[in-house]
Parts: sequence; C-alpha cells; structure tokens
Amino acid sequence: MKLGCIADDFTGATDLANNLVRAGMRVVQAMGVPMQPLDSDADAVVVALKTRTLPANEAIEESLAALRWLQAQGAQQIYFKYCSTFDSTAQGNIGPVTEALMDALADETGSDFTIATPAFPDNQRTVFKGHLFVGDVLLNESGMQNHPLTPMTDANLVRFLQTQCRRSVGLIDYKVVAQGETAIRERIAELRAQGVGVAVVDAISNDDLLRLGPALKGMPLVTAGSGVAIGLPANFGIAPSNTASALPAAIGLQAVVSGSCSLATNRQVMAFIKSGQPAFSVDALQVAAGVDVTRQALAWAAPLLVHGPVLIYSTAQANTVKMVQGRLGVEQAGAMLERTLAAIAHGLVALGVRQLVLAGGETAGACVQALNITQMKIGLQIDPGVPWCHAQTEAAIPDGLHLTLKSGNFGTDDFFTKAFTRLA
Ligand code: ADP
Repeated sequence: MKLGCIADDFTGATDLANNLVRAGMRVVQAMGVPMQPLDSDADAVVVALKTRTLPANEAIEESLAALRWLQAQGAQQIYFKYCSTFDSTAQGNIGPVTEALMDALADETGSDFTIATPAFPDNQRTVFKGHLFVGDVLLNESGMQNHPLTPMTDANLVRFLQTQCRRSVGLIDYKVVAQGETAIRERIAELRAQGVGVAVVDAISNDDLLRLGPALKGMPLVTAGSGVAIGLPANFGIAPSNTASALPAAIGLQAVVSGSCSLATNRQVMAFIKSGQPAFSVDALQVAAGVDVTRQALAWAAPLLVHGPVLIYSTAQANTVKMVQGRLGVEQAGAMLERTLAAIAHGLVALGVRQLVLAGGETAGACVQALNITQMKIGLQIDPGVPWCHAQTEAAIPDGLHLTLKSGNFGTDDFFTKAFTRLA
C-alpha cells in the first residue's frame, strides 16, 4: 500500500477514493478499522470512520487505531480527509485529530509538519488568502453557518484552525503555490523555522492542487478535503488509467434507496418520478405509528424489479421534514428512518438487487452496516465525488454487489437514472 487514508465520514471517504482512482490508483474503502490485514491488491486504502461529530477524544482514539492498521499494511504516507466545508464541532475534530496523528508520526519519522486545505475546485470549494469559499461566497455565508451539528461561522481557516490546535498555524498563500514545488518547499522550510506546525494552503484551481502535489512527496501526514488527492498518485509513479476503476461486470436487479432530504436529492427524486419510473414513498408518521412499511415497500417492489430500477424514498421537502421532526424529535425521526431504509435495502438485496444507489450520508452508512459490508473497491465516477463501488458481501451473494453512496448535495438531477446507464 502506498497511501493510507483516514476519512471522518463514509460518503467523504468515497469522495476521496474517487479522486485517487481518477488519478490512477487502485483503491479499497474499508468501513471502520478492519480486523484483518488487507486481502486485495490496492495502491491506497481509505478507512472510513464516522468521527466528524464525536467527542474529540473518541475521534482521536479511532483515528489512531486506523493509523496503526494502515502502518501495519505498509502505508508510506497518511492522508487525513475531512469535509470540503471544514465541518467542525466546538471541540474540533480536525485540529485535535491532526495533532494526534502528527504526534504519533513524529516519533517514528522525526517530521512534525503538515498542511491543511479543504480546497476542492471541482465542487466549487476554493481557498484564497486562507479564506474558504463555497461557490462565490465565504464559508460563513454559504448556509454552513446554520448547519445543525457543525455550524461554520469563520471562513478564515488560519484563525479558525488555530482555535483547535496547540501547534502554531500558518499559511502558504496562492502566490507561493503559483510558483510550484520549489517555492512551496522553501515556504514550508521558512514556516518550520518560525515554529509553525500546520500550514493552511491556498488553492483556487486544480492546477494549484497539481502544483502542490509534488511538494507533498515524503510528507508523512497530509490533511485535506478530497481535492489534494488529485496531485498525490504521481508522487508514487502512478498515472491515470482505465484499469484503476475496473470493477466486475454488473449483474442483477437495480434499486435506489434515498433518505437524503437535501435540495439536490429532492430534485433527483422528482426527476425519477417524472420520468415515469416506479417510486414508493416511505411515510415517517406511518413508520412511527407501527405500520410495517418495510414489508409493504418490499411487497410493492418485488414484481416491479424485473422491469428496471425502482426508487424507495423518505426524501421530503423542508416543511415536511420540520413537521415530522416536530412530532417525533429530530434525532428520533432520523434514526427511525435510517433503520427502516436499512431494512429495506437489506430486503431488496434478498430480492436479487445487485446494483444499489444509496442517497444520503447517514442513510448510506446505515444501509452499508445493515448489509454487513466491510470493504468496497472503488470504480468509475458517476458525478464529481460519487463513484460506483463493488463490495464482496456474505457468501449468500457470491458475485458481490455494486453500490454507490451519494452524499446529499452531490449529483445532477437525473442521477438515479444516469447511475445505472453509466454502470451498464
Ligand atoms: P444528507 O447526505 O442529505 O445529509 P443523510 O442521510 O445524511 O442525508 O441525512 C438525512 C437525515 O434525515 C437522516 O437521518 C434521515 O433518516 C432523515 N430523514 C429522511 N427522511 C426524513 C423525513 N421525511 N423526515 C425527517 N427526517 C428524515
């Protein structure tokens, strides 16, 4: 293994893996820290954790366990992946996890410096003079200031990350990045001489990320969103190729399970229904009232699946979600629907579904767990940040399962149809 990655959530892990595959690496994503050594050939492994909103000490403990496993597999460089909107709780966890990984690696490598940049220009996340932009606006005006779990109210990443770090935080600005590897390495040396341990890096285009890549060769730890990954495989002599994304041929029936209520997913559900394809709405209040909606949904799907993809969704618009949350409680409603959709995903696979689209980060996490999936190989991209994957599951499914984990706001309106066309 060349690159060992630790991601703080499941869909983010897939997003990172997708960028590595596009740059030529063969990538496996593991759900949680594996119990055993890696059993397939891969240039990179992404260990997907769910540590973004955990208490900092728990996030550190899990991240260090992932580090130890990756080191045992021979990882030459470690990549800590977080969200491109730098999602943080009041305690971190980007700073505390970064420093815990640095402490662990400093003992072995003698190096005590890393970078931090959530830049992902393909998805309109750019960093300029240390400030994070989402599209045309600063992070704190992007809607992220109202996020229920990780409200982001400061777009100045140097100032913000400093509140989470013991080490001094500095900046490698766009003028340095524009000059390429030598200038970046000189700036790193200068910052280290000043006692800086972590440097935020400006990047406003993929060209910036590709110029940054060579300067990161040999750095024991890189911390970033998924964007920086496009510049790393070349450091290991790897070039883009079609074979990196090769997956087994797709077989079996097709279905979409959607629990995301984001704007993009709402549009995708509408587009699927409008195209005349079959869709079943899971009503949260019926589930709460004890109706066996799982059984109803599966009985509905069984005769339809042979004709093409079906959609089963709890996706709803903001006013409906508010009403449901008001009656059931925010967390209770979320957990209840995640359990229901996970049971439906499990039932669909039992009915012969082997191509499964899962929409929503938490929803996808719950479904993947219900399906007992521990590892996936990453294949071709459907839309930026969303690839098809192939998972080996229990012996009951000898040829495994194709699935894609779509984060709420990713994907074009026709994603639920396009995904299957792409795979075919
Ligand atoms: P996203 O990636 O868009 O954030 P997630 O799956 O991570 O999607 O989060 C959506 C959350 O909303 C989940 O906890 C899900 O169970 C919950 N949810 C889904 N449908 C509804 C609904 N109709 N009412 C209330 N909550 C819902």
